[in-house]
Amino acid sequence: MTSTGRGPPHRASPSLSAPGGRGRRSRESVRVRMAADYYDKLGLKRNATKKEIKSAYRKLARKYHPDVSKAPDAEAKFKDISNAYEVLSDEEKKQIYDRYGEAGLKGSPFGPGGAGASDFSNPFDIFESFFGMGGGMGGGMGGMGGAAGSMRDRPQQGEDIVVRVRLSFLEAVFGCEQEVATTRRETCSSCSGSGIQEGTRPTTCSQCGGSGQVISAVRTPIGTFQQSVPCNACGGTGRIFTPCSTCTGSGRNTKNKTLSVRFPAGVDNGSRLRVRGEGNSGRKGGRTGDLYVEVEVERDAELARDGENIKSNVTVGCTDAILGTSVKIRTVDGSVELKIPAGTQPGTTLLMSKRGVPRLGNPNLRGDHLVKVNVKIPQKLTPEERKKFEELREISSQEVKA
Ligand SMILES: [Zn+2]
Ligand SMILES: [Zn+2]
Repeated sequence: MTSTGRGPPHRASPSLSAPGGRGRRSRESVRVRMAADYYDKLGLKRNATKKEIKSAYRKLARKYHPDVSKAPDAEAKFKDISNAYEVLSDEEKKQIYDRYGEAGLKGSPFGPGGAGASDFSNPFDIFESFFGMGGGMGGGMGGMGGAAGSMRDRPQQGEDIVVRVRLSFLEAVFGCEQEVATTRRETCSSCSGSGIQEGTRPTTCSQCGGSGQVISAVRTPIGTFQQSVPCNACGGTGRIFTPCSTCTGSGRNTKNKTLSVRFPAGVDNGSRLRVRGEGNSGRKGGRTGDLYVEVEVERDAELARDGENIKSNVTVGCTDAILGTSVKIRTVDGSVELKIPAGTQPGTTLLMSKRGVPRLGNPNLRGDHLVKVNVKIPQKLTPEERKKFEELREISSQEVKA
């Protein structure tokens, strides 16, 4: 089987996917986004165990593999099942999905970003790695086996990398640009990624005669049978070569790179930004993975974030609460005057409209700043104050009687 032609389209250009900022780019991405819940797709309950997730995928992927199923929508179903499995079988992705839904996997926990079908790995690759590299399905599923040698020569996409970045409270509110240091695997320049020492030539493997495969009995989820497996001597490549001294044959080297990343206004703890094409380099011409920048926001001593709203407290004296006053409140915009109306009750929340956090993806919209008013009752009174309060009590009790 050749899987290369069937995969989702690759997008190359590096771009920061500011959550919510990008529109839908293809019909396919719309279809994927509108599709049913991942657990539903695999026929699972939300509390499904790892084992149940695996077993559901095993059953459904074999049923809907387009080489086997004659149903017209088999390929689409197969892809859906694979996407669902890819997320739910990955502890990190699953946690994000459980918490934020599909949108959380698109670079941000807030609403759909620009990513589409190509967020997922090739479903045929997932299938092959699940059922074993180059492993035939045996019996009636004969068409499914692949030449292990050809798989090794196929382009492989570079892995995504994740970097955590700490932003100050205000940087997260209003957005900022920051240098982000990454460590990633880049194609070796000495051997151009081939892993072969410059000036040497690979020779044909004597163990497998260059085919990259040897016949062996193999256990699979559906029984034991004879089939060809990758040759150990040459690792399935059919060739023996002197490894490149720079990359020790891996074809990639670890490099540090610092990128300037623009954090949009409104990012919050746990927000993830995707920078396309800044992950690990692919192999054999495969596309480069992406960089995910995960945001951690520092706490502020007075201001608390509640989504798009900011919360803080203020304490006023009881006479100010009774008669009304004006106080200065520290907001994200600086100090702002807040009117405390006469007769404000302890615990009242007053709203400072549009002094909150700009909306992610639409910074013209802003949340509010909510101020909870505490009222301080004096514990000690001067003789004069005491006299006045007693007079007040006198007046109040007369009013009650009247
Ligand atoms: Zn060999
Ligand atoms: Zn090299």
